[in-house]
Amino acid sequence: MLNLYNTLTAQVEEFHPLDNKHVRMYVCGPTVYDYAHIGNFRTFVFADLLRRYLKFKGYELTHVMNITDIEDKIIKRANEDGADFREFTTKYINLFFEDWDALGLERPEQIIRATDCIDDMVAIIKRLEANGLTYNSDGSTYYRIAGFNGYGKLSKINFEGNIAGGSDRVDADEYEKENVRDFVLWKAAKPGEPSWETEIGAGRPGWHIECSAMSMKALGETFDIHAGGIDLVFPHHENEIAQSEGATGKPFVKYWVHSEFLLAEGEKMSKSKGNYYTVRGLVDQGFSHRAIRYMLLSAQHLKQFNFTMEGLRGAESTVARLKDFRLRLGEAKCNPGSNPAMPVLSKRAQQRFEAALDDDLNVAEALAAIHDFVREVNIALADGTLKADNQTEMLKVVAKFDSVFNIFGEAKQEMLDDEIQALVDERQAARKAKNFARSDEIRNLLAEKGIVLEDTKDGMRWKRK
Ligand code: AMP
Ligand code: ZN
Repeated sequence: MLNLYNTLTAQVEEFHPLDNKHVRMYVCGPTVYDYAHIGNFRTFVFADLLRRYLKFKGYELTHVMNITDIEDKIIKRANEDGADFREFTTKYINLFFEDWDALGLERPEQIIRATDCIDDMVAIIKRLEANGLTYNSDGSTYYRIAGFNGYGKLSKINFEGNIAGGSDRVDADEYEKENVRDFVLWKAAKPGEPSWETEIGAGRPGWHIECSAMSMKALGETFDIHAGGIDLVFPHHENEIAQSEGATGKPFVKYWVHSEFLLAEGEKMSKSKGNYYTVRGLVDQGFSHRAIRYMLLSAQHLKQFNFTMEGLRGAESTVARLKDFRLRLGEAKCNPGSNPAMPVLSKRAQQRFEAALDDDLNVAEALAAIHDFVREVNIALADGTLKADNQTEMLKVVAKFDSVFNIFGEAKQEMLDDEIQALVDERQAARKAKNFARSDEIRNLLAEKGIVLEDTKDGMRWKRK
């Protein structure tokens, strides 16, 4: 049974989805105005682990993630670039998913851009209006916190005191408000900003309403898991609850799951502090995506941890060892038959792995189970006690572990000449079409398989390293 810490109840709880077999999960996605940093990716890698483990436990899953593609910083940057905001954000969305895929994250079932859901946001604001929870000021619409009883139930902040805000995620948009805690649902149109003509006036949505609208549209008015980084608890998620429950009168989310910060030199890694590293920056320094993934996964999500180059170098040698182990296990010429001690070993490792992850995703213990398993199987490989039947079984166990962690690297597969040629042709076509993202992707894929490309006067040639 999976146990998860729920920010809403402030307790570790047994996980029981609302619908027995099917889990509905929403994760707050990126704001796309620049490259994401590895702190952002800590949150997404954590969500990927949760996603994969839910599937490992046999649940069906609908995982939804939004893309915040309209927001103050986006508008500012797009205007500075003289770009249409939609084109500007599309560029950063594509770059974001290049990193996403390279880090071995699975794509959610649905990825939704905020600006594709304006009507849904307006519909919720109208419901809130009908419930007396909004007011207008200078053409903008605000949420009246005083009208919602449960405000503060997620963040446990006592609003009786004199609290002016939360973290650096407090809305930058301060217009005319009745109460300092009230937040904007709909911002009146301003010159130089994108806006939509709607029943509640011309304008654009506030940040918080986006997630209420997109999550309920995709998953229904009540769903199982809502996840994101810890800085989103207040005000973003507190406001999402106020909006969603204020509109529907139903509980919004059963389990709120938050992951802690990745730090750099003891402080939260963030764009504004400048103490951040991007995935591609680290890859340019020679690190592999798999090592970055391993490093981001290696601490339990409720624990902060410090990013260091030394830690990343350690992750690099660990993933190299795991990859090497899988290759050797696959290629070993084992004697026929079966050693009865081996299934005992593999069962123990699997039980330990699952018990650890059931315990609020205790990754440190689950990884320890994997490393001990690798060590023991290595010994059996070396002394010949691993037989052919055990070898097949052990490869399956590795694949099972890897369905959750995705850290062992590809099982070795020689690429056939035809497959290589097809990719080379596709790359040529992509380059012609100026689809450089795809062209780079293919080059990297081939490089991983040890295929080198050469531009000759007769066209592109490939050879094995
Ligand atoms: P943003 O693109 O700023 O909207 O952030 C995307 C996600 O990254 C959110 O869930 C944030 O909570 C999360 N995040 C931002 N900084 C960090 C950090 N240093 N460590 C972990 N998660 C972070
Ligand atoms: Zn959100």
